[in-house]
Amino acid sequence: MTEECVFCKIAKGEIPVKKIYENDSFLSFPDANPTIEGHSLVIPKKHFKTLLDLPSTLGPEFLDCVKKTTLKLIEKYKTEGFNLVSNNFPSAGQVVHHVHFHIMPRKEKDGRELRLNKKH
Ligand code: AMP
Ligand code: ZN
Repeated sequence: MTEECVFCKIAKGEIPVKKIYENDSFLSFPDANPTIEGHSLVIPKKHFKTLLDLPSTLGPEFLDCVKKTTLKLIEKYKTEGFNLVSNNFPSAGQVVHHVHFHIMPRKEKDGRELRLNKKH
């Protein structure tokens, strides 16, 4: 837990967000810089740096938050697909060091492609 952690501040209500869904241990809200319409984040309310620090006992609550959030996004944005992504450690692109999960609603032929850049 760090005093400066932006997601700890969101979890404590110190930074207001439009909550999509929450249970005792997880919370979801829209990403501040969406890469696609409806791009949202799921975070644990307690500070854990990466997925590897997240206790396995939180698995059911994690799945509950991911599934309920995704169902709401699918209904709101009229999509049928979605990507679930988590960047862990700086080498994998993690910028906020409080584990989080990106949910990106997807439509057929939305012109977007989620893939690692090819190495030339
Ligand atoms: P990552 O590269 O996986 O660490 O992504 C961090 C994500 O957090 C980015 O997509 C940011 O747009 C998002 N983010 C950072 N600060 C906020 C905030 N205050 N509210 C919502 N999303 C945020
Ligand atoms: Zn934190």
